[in-house]
Amino acid sequence: MSQPPSYWLRSDEYVYPPLQGDASCGVAVIGGGIAGLSTALHLSRRGAKVILLERDTIGHGSTGRCGGLLSQSSAFELSELLSRFGNKRGLDIYRSILKAIREMAATVRDNNIECDLEQTNGYFVATEKAHIPAIEEELETLKDYGYEGRLVTGDELPVAGAFAALCKPGDYALDPARFAKGLGSVIAAHAAIHEHTGVARIRNLNGKVVLVTDSGAQVTSDHVVIATNGKTLNAGMNALAAPFVSYIAITEPLPAAATEKLGNAGLWDANFNYYYVRRLPDGGMMIGGNHTWRSTLGLESVAGVAAHLRSVLMRYFPGTDIRIRTAWKGDIALPPDALPNVETKGNKTLLIVDGMIPGWIAGGMAADRFLTGRSAYDYLYDARRDMGFAANLLRRMPAPRSLKILAMRVGLGLKLFFSHW
Ligand SMILES: Cc1cc2nc3c(=O)[nH]c(=O)nc-3n(C[C@H](O)[C@H](O)[C@H](O)COP(=O)(O)OP(=O)(O)OC[C@H]3O[C@@H](n4cnc5c(N)ncnc54)[C@H](O)[C@@H]3O)c2cc1C
Repeated sequence: MSQPPSYWLRSDEYVYPPLQGDASCGVAVIGGGIAGLSTALHLSRRGAKVILLERDTIGHGSTGRCGGLLSQSSAFELSELLSRFGNKRGLDIYRSILKAIREMAATVRDNNIECDLEQTNGYFVATEKAHIPAIEEELETLKDYGYEGRLVTGDELPVAGAFAALCKPGDYALDPARFAKGLGSVIAAHAAIHEHTGVARIRNLNGKVVLVTDSGAQVTSDHVVIATNGKTLNAGMNALAAPFVSYIAITEPLPAAATEKLGNAGLWDANFNYYYVRRLPDGGMMIGGNHTWRSTLGLESVAGVAAHLRSVLMRYFPGTDIRIRTAWKGDIALPPDALPNVETKGNKTLLIVDGMIPGWIAGGMAADRFLTGRSAYDYLYDARRDMGFAANLLRRMPAPRSLKILAMRVGLGLKLFFSHW
């Protein structure tokens, strides 16, 4: 294995044979993470002829290393979306997130995928007084739009050291590696999957796309969807996403009494360091976070970050004997506004996502675009959209409006120009 496995990725065994000999299809999908799997699933169940190629094994990338939380919290607070993108677009983004969560859970249930799926509450927690207004604002906004949410304070707070928390129903947690493998089985009933089949090069030939694999075998297709978590197949700079690594540590089982207020809920710390916590079915506690720019790789050891994450857990559950069982890291490709990023150039579509929910959405969009020429979500997640974050930053700058619009256009143009893939 090129990287150590996660708690979820217990074996490196492959199920589907490597590609041997040339093949052809309607759509070739590169990458067996959530984005590629979602693409292949959405396409194959609508009758498209699909071949999915995975360099390692299904779920071996970030999907099988992630926390397995399907949550409306973290990057998707409704109040934040409305302020960044305006009421209509912000609400449509929020609805698309909720719809994707429901679809993913339904896919697990309908196909009997054994991945410990649990419906949970999600806590968004203020561990500093300064975060309380953000939590109150989110609660008010949810109520204004008819969504459920509850303010939790005092003895009811799920962890120590918190001032307030917003509790929302409707999240899910699962074992992400078994989820990915289960999606693979569903896809394999209608499409071809080849593990241990890396794509080395993509060529255009007579209006078709030719994928040259590491072994030399080739796949010729009408369209290719590249879902490699921001790792483009060309050497050029990928300006569509910022390369981060993120970490997870898992403890030995903790006494039930220490974590009973949290129960099986997911927890997000409103602190910018982005800590999230979840109790696992075996009583161990998972803590993730500590996003770091990928170029610092090597300066930060997994063991060092795990010790830091343990110190955060000791703040949440003081007086508890907390021992780290295992820890690992994985890659994150972060689009500038953290939303799914779908870019189509001729017969190629590139998906860049931060999160399983964005991955699911992006795959559905790629399928729609191939089958119907467009997706209902194009105005939300096409790579040429107005990235609310950059736009908001510019908006606050003291400069004439025309200059700001020009700056935005130039920025977007440069971003797309430097994005070779
Ligand atoms: C530590 C950590 C914790 C996280 N926690 C959560 C969480 O709790 N909830 C959540 O929603 N998200 C979480 N995320 C984010 C989420 O895991 C990722 O954003 C998402 O899984 C990315 O999916 P993907 O399909 O784009 O990429 P990946 O899952 O990385 O899949 C890409 C695949 O492409 C393959 N590949 C690459 N190059 C080639 C090639 N040339 N040929 C063939 N195959 C190739 C790779 O082997 C890989 O399997 C976490 C991420 C990390 C790192």
